[in-house]
Amino acid sequence: MWNEKRIKTLVIASLLITETFVWTASGSIDSQSLGIIGGSDGPTSIDIRNSGEKPELPDLEDPAGGQADGDLSGTGEDADNQPQEDKHHEKELQEAESKGLLLLVNKKQPISPDYKPEDLQEIRDFVPDRSPETRYMRAEAADAFHNLVEQAAQDGIVIKMTTAYRSYGFQKLLFDSYVEKEGEEMANTFSAKPGQSEHQTGLAVDVSSPSVDYQLSDDYGKTAEGKWVAANAYRFGFILRFPEGKEDITGYQYEPWHLRYVGTFAAKEIHDQDLTLEEYLDKYNVKE
Ligand SMILES: [Zn+2]
Repeated sequence: MWNEKRIKTLVIASLLITETFVWTASGSIDSQSLGIIGGSDGPTSIDIRNSGEKPELPDLEDPAGGQADGDLSGTGEDADNQPQEDKHHEKELQEAESKGLLLLVNKKQPISPDYKPEDLQEIRDFVPDRSPETRYMRAEAADAFHNLVEQAAQDGIVIKMTTAYRSYGFQKLLFDSYVEKEGEEMANTFSAKPGQSEHQTGLAVDVSSPSVDYQLSDDYGKTAEGKWVAANAYRFGFILRFPEGKEDITGYQYEPWHLRYVGTFAAKEIHDQDLTLEEYLDKYNVKE
């Protein structure tokens, strides 16, 4: 019979089986020596012996705190005189915020272990040898992802998801297995701790393509598919969440495969202004 532990082992093994081969090129020595910048998605093979434990609660910071100044609407004009453009901007951001699309999850601002999106929808375009458990996104993001894949196909580009939604428990299982094998310090350099992965929001998706054999590789950014993603994802509401050169802001290494859905309005602004989500939310004083 299949017991729970064995099933979990198989789930993890299937998720990671191909990530094993690709991590060697990632993570500069400088970044790792800072001790605060790690990877988000984790590579390497694992041995799961302590997988049956209940998830522990992380140290949660006040989710309402943290965001500071930078409110562009604070021009001194009253609401009636506010330019139409600013009103439109504010309305768009409020709408995205009300739908939870601007939710910020990082090392400083973890998400509650209990958070699970209510509108998860299965993704069609997936790499089949990865864990089916992660094959979901929030409905709006899933529809947008399908549109992205379709447009890419019309441009002769093949894009598929490798993982999308990860529950808190799933991320904990991953991280614990890395710690057991590599030690916590090393695990922090390539994997998000449970509660610190935005995959738990149902708004993140890791993508890959045939040219890198569906691996999660830094080299993806140099391929035709990776370049297409970087240039076009915003049109469908996605941003490259961990861009190169912004590691000190995001807290995570460059990940050309990790997309985050924020809606088309915010995605275009973030893309056009070359910002991270952290910088964008700070600039427009969006409090999450
Ligand atoms: Zn990811």
